[in-house]
Amino acid sequence: MSAELAFNRSADVDYGVAKEIAPDVRRIVANNPSPYTFLGTNTYIVGSGDVAVIDPGPADAAHLTAIAEATRGERITHICITHSHRDHCDGALPLQERLGGEIVAFGPTGTTRGAGTPGLGDAFIDSAFTPDLPVADGDTVKGRGFSLDVLHMPGHAPDHLCFALVGKRIVFTGDHVMGWNTTVIAPPEGNMGDFLTSLDKLAQRHDRMFLPGHGGHVETPRRVVRAYITHRKWREQNILACIDDGVSTIPRIVAKLYGAIDADLKGAAALSVLAHLEHLIARDVVTAEGATDKFSAFYVRAASDAVSSSS
Ligand SMILES: [Zn+2]
Repeated sequence: MSAELAFNRSADVDYGVAKEIAPDVRRIVANNPSPYTFLGTNTYIVGSGDVAVIDPGPADAAHLTAIAEATRGERITHICITHSHRDHCDGALPLQERLGGEIVAFGPTGTTRGAGTPGLGDAFIDSAFTPDLPVADGDTVKGRGFSLDVLHMPGHAPDHLCFALVGKRIVFTGDHVMGWNTTVIAPPEGNMGDFLTSLDKLAQRHDRMFLPGHGGHVETPRRVVRAYITHRKWREQNILACIDDGVSTIPRIVAKLYGAIDADLKGAAALSVLAHLEHLIARDVVTAEGATDKFSAFYVRAASDAVSSSS
């Protein structure tokens, strides 16, 4: 199994300029580049005349002005949010105040969010985000000239939605599947089991194009979804091999799998390993000694233990 995913990371981006990506789909990239957002957040405008805005992005005056200019003479009927990470949703209220539109999102999940986790706190997640119109898997957002099927795809975030443009085989994938990198799964915000289930759901569809929240469009959706799944299986096998070798704490697993990386990335890598371990624990493949956190020791449950405990 190969772990390498090939992405087109060409860096030509014209911030604030609406670019037609597909018929009746325009994209504007927000000028908020970072190690997590790549070149910035993609905002999509769907339809013409009456339009939906998917992910208004950060509350950035220049970006909101760019959306206003791109939709001049049109009416924003819906502001759809893939998930309540601030780089996607903070622009929702300011955009609504300026141009109107009903804010559509999954809404509060009732689960523990990442607030409190270093690097994943309130600066990153708006856990109080509340839409005008909460939607769930199977709902459809209808405008004049477009319909968006709502797909609940938790994993990266518990409230994560993808929106499928009906009749076009195009899915707006947010951060569930991205156009430039693998997705961050960082507990408690992220859940690896949910993420893999959501990928399986996406793998069963027959889409032609993904339009992600960061990075360019994906023209081989099924291949990318399969590669995402393969990448996670490969990572899980590596972690199990570490545990078999007696490398049984998260810091030591990170050191072995990631080598010398800087402190920031080490924190992200530790959370990713934790996400895999939680998924292994949930399936009774691995048992934790002590509390399941970044510093627990883990060991592989012997096959005979697993048999006796399940009988
Ligand atoms: Zn996100």
